[in-house]
Order: sequence, then C-alpha cells, then structure tokens
Amino acid sequence: MKRRTFLKFGGALVAQSVIASSLLDSVFLSTAHGQTVSIRDLKNSLPADQAMILVPQDAQFASYQQAFNKRTLKTPIVRVLCSTPQAVAISIQWAQANKVPLAVRSGGHSFEGLSQGTGLIIDTRPMSQFQISSDKQTFIAGAGALLGNVYTELAKDGRAVPAGSCPTVGITGHTLGGGYGLLARPLGLACDSLLKVEMVNAKGEIIQCSADENKDLFWALRGGGAGSFGIVTKLQFKTHEVSHVYTYGMSWKVSPEVAAQLMKTWQQWAPESPREITSLMKVSRGKDGLINVRALGQTVGTENILRSELARLSAIAQPESLNIKDLDFMSSVRHFGGSFDQEYIFMKGKSDYIKQVMSDEGIAVLLKKIPSGIDVIFDSYGGAIRDVADDATAFAHRTGTVSSLQYYTQWFKEADGKAKLETMKTFHDALRPYMSGAAYFNYCDLDIKDYARAYWGNNLQRLIDIKVQHDPNNFFAHAQSIPLKKGS
Ligand SMILES: Cc1cc2nc3c(=O)[nH]c(=O)nc-3n(C[C@H](O)[C@H](O)[C@H](O)COP(=O)(O)OP(=O)(O)OC[C@H]3O[C@@H](n4cnc5c(N)ncnc54)[C@H](O)[C@@H]3O)c2cc1C
Repeated sequence: MKRRTFLKFGGALVAQSVIASSLLDSVFLSTAHGQTVSIRDLKNSLPADQAMILVPQDAQFASYQQAFNKRTLKTPIVRVLCSTPQAVAISIQWAQANKVPLAVRSGGHSFEGLSQGTGLIIDTRPMSQFQISSDKQTFIAGAGALLGNVYTELAKDGRAVPAGSCPTVGITGHTLGGGYGLLARPLGLACDSLLKVEMVNAKGEIIQCSADENKDLFWALRGGGAGSFGIVTKLQFKTHEVSHVYTYGMSWKVSPEVAAQLMKTWQQWAPESPREITSLMKVSRGKDGLINVRALGQTVGTENILRSELARLSAIAQPESLNIKDLDFMSSVRHFGGSFDQEYIFMKGKSDYIKQVMSDEGIAVLLKKIPSGIDVIFDSYGGAIRDVADDATAFAHRTGTVSSLQYYTQWFKEADGKAKLETMKTFHDALRPYMSGAAYFNYCDLDIKDYARAYWGNNLQRLIDIKVQHDPNNFFAHAQSIPLKKGS
C-alpha cells in the first residue's frame, strides 16, 4: 500500500521526546478543586517518546497555550501532548485515579473554549498523521490533523472530504459536531463521510467505532461526540472526487427594503437549488443606513447552471459585483479560507436554525437591530444533508432545515469584550422569537440555557442513554457535553 505521512507538528514533538520539566519529579499541583496531586506517577508511566508533559513552570508551556478564541483561555495544571492512543489511555487513568478534571484539545477552535480546562488537558496535536489508501477511496487522519492539511494531502489525488472552510480548524472537533462546509449540499457533512473512529473510553480502553463495532457510539460521535464519550485518536473517512469547482461571490449595498427581498429570495432559493451548489449569505450593517449583503459559494456542477441560478438573486437587485471563478479545489480552499497560519483573536459566536423561510417581520427585526460589527452568516442546507434521516446520526438538523445562522463578532483588545458580548446577546435575544429554537453545536454558545435540546433535538434521549452506558460517572464533561439526564 502506498502511504503518505505528514507529521508537520508531531514530527517536531517526537524528535524532542521531552518529559519537559526538571522540576517535574517533585512538583505537586494544587488544583482549582482544592486537592494536591503529584504528577510523578504520570511521568513514570508515560513513555518519553509518546508524550510531552508540560506544567506552567516549563519554558515551552506558553507556546502550547494559545487557542483561536483568546476570550476563553484557561490555564491547566498539566498539559499532556500525546502522540499515541496508549499515552492518552495512561493520562486518562491518571486523571481518574487523582480525580483531576479533564479537557481534550485537538484543533483548539471551540467558540466557547470547551477544549480548555484547569485540570489535565489531553492535547492530540502530535497525532496529526495522514494516510490515504492505495485505491484513494479512504483516508485516515490522526485526531490532531487540521482541515487545511487534510485538504492539501487529498488534493494531490484529486480527492476531497466535505468539511469546513477554515484550514486551521481541527478535523476532530469539527467532525464530531457535524461539520458544514462548501461541499455540504453535494456531499453532506464531514460526519456523513466518517467510516471509523478510534477512541479511548472512560475505562482507558482503545476501542474502534464503526457501522460494525460499537455502533451506538459511532452513531453518537457523528454530531454529538465532542468531548462527551471518550478521546478520539484517529478517524477514517471516505474520499470524494473533486478536482475543480466554480466559486462565486455577489455583493450589494442596499436599503433595508431591498436587503429584505434579497434575504427572502436567498432563503427560498438556496436550500432548494441544484445540489451541486452550496451557498452562504452574509448580512451586515453598512454605512448611511444601507445593508451589506454578500452571497457566496461554489458549485461542483457547470458554470452555465450556476449563472442561471444566480439570476434569481440579480433579478431582485443588480449586484455591485459578481465574480465567478473556475478554480482547482485547493485554490477554492484558499479563496474561502484564507491563510493556513494560526490566528488568535477575541470572539463570540452564536447560532440559530430556521426550518422555514423567515417571516417578513423576522427579517425586518434582523435588519433593524443588526449592530455594526456583527456578521450574520446563513449556511444553506438541503441537498445531501437532507438525504440522511434526522435520527440516522446524532446530528439532528436535516429534514426541512432551510439554513443555519451564525452570528459572529471579533475584537482585538480584551477591554472591548464586555460591550461586544452585551451587544451580541441583546441582538440575538431579539431574534430568538423568529427562529426554530435549535442551534449548531459547532457554533457553541454558553448563553443557551437548554443547550442539549437546542443542539440535539429529538436525538437527545438516545445520546443520554449512550452516555449513561459508556460514561456513567460523567468523566468526559465540559460546559455543554451530553448530560446524564435531561435538564442537568
Ligand atoms: C475560524 C473558525 C472557522 C470555523 N468554520 C467552520 C465551518 O466552516 N463549518 C463548521 O461546521 N464549523 C466551523 N467552525 C466551528 C468548528 O467546527 C468547531 O469550533 C470545532 O469544534 C473545532 O474543532 P477543533 O478540533 O478545532 O477544536 P477544539 O477546541 O480542540 O475542540 C472542540 C470540541 O471538540 C472536543 N474535542 C476536541 N478533540 C477531541 C478528541 N480528540 N476527542 C473527543 N472530543 C474532542 C472538545 O471537547 C470540544 O468540545 C469554525 C470555527 C472557527 C473558530
């Protein structure tokens, strides 16, 4: 079998083979929960070439602390960068024996820092390997792999996997929450291409989950799996042939009345358009009372059909610009995703789902109240997302879903955070009456009170049953993990 491997991040780590701190032997860590623990056992049981242990006193600690959202950073008492599932298992057992709370970090892009913690962080970044099968139909990625690296490797064989647009997002957190991207309407969500998952469970066992083994967990991991059932160490996906696409972008600066017509027409059109086309619509407040509307997306079909479909939007108002580009797949990844360099900012996101086209009143409220500095991004559903039944995987937002809405704001000075958060919450609260009540876990939001019902809808009870069976002590937990019972 021909294999390719990249160890961009992991290679550097393994070469160092570090058990980092000279202080480590004698260090005792006071946890936020009041107990004192020694990490001597952890150090003694972890093979030096399989893990790097970092405590805050270590010189290298700070360089692994960064994550996309600077607003939600937490300082752990110890971070273990694991390069094998065995190292993950040992770390889990140590955390259990010492009652140290655990968080798991892969790509570090959680909107709410659900991969952050004050106890032990198991960090999968060193497991970033990639292998494509000899027939190119499947690939395996380590849990620490990033979307951009996976796209780059697959594109060498004219293949792709449907997943998100940001190259620095981790494939693991993304897929476990669903995984929407610009191939979603022809090819489905990232979790729909998942074939097999290797995971370390609460007993510290390395298990496989697929349509044949641990079927219940495989169901749960596809949409409900982030940080709730175990630590994923490897994922196998099917690949799809995608060599080139036509991307498009159209923009308008229009009055609220015209913006409302564009928004309504987009919602009627985008989820029902030919499934080759995936469309996003971005709405923001412009200058002089105008609204900025941008429709963008891509098709794996023909330029002619794309042009005739887009005529639905230009019939409402002539766009300031309409750009259609014929791009190879990697150029389209760079076109939408921008830089492959890690970025660290302060941000807040929220989400909603609409199951029917928004009412005129709902659109009017959105356009009246949208503050400057907040983008509302509609992601079109339908197509292959809708081919899968709502209860076939844990991802529940398929049948009849028109679109998700992502609300996004970012800032660069910490001091601006309070005002930004208040503005976002006030705006979102005003819109909730016009929405379905559902929300997307990958755009997680700690303000949602009944988050489990919002994220997983009618699949919640089955997820709870699986949680009770596989993690009855709720060892894998974060602020929005699958609870052991409803309402907890
Ligand atoms: C800039 C940006 C762009 C984005 N674009 C998109 C997009 O186009 N489409 C989309 O659908 N989403 C998008 N997202 C959301 C993204 O999919 C989620 O934030 C996702 O959870 C990130 O995964 P991660 O591995 O990078 O994050 P992490 O912060 O490492 O983890 C996220 C979650 O996964 C869990 N987790 C992490 N590793 C493991 C593991 N090994 N085993 C079990 N659980 C684990 C954590 O507990 C946490 O709950 C975007 C986010 C950002 C910040």
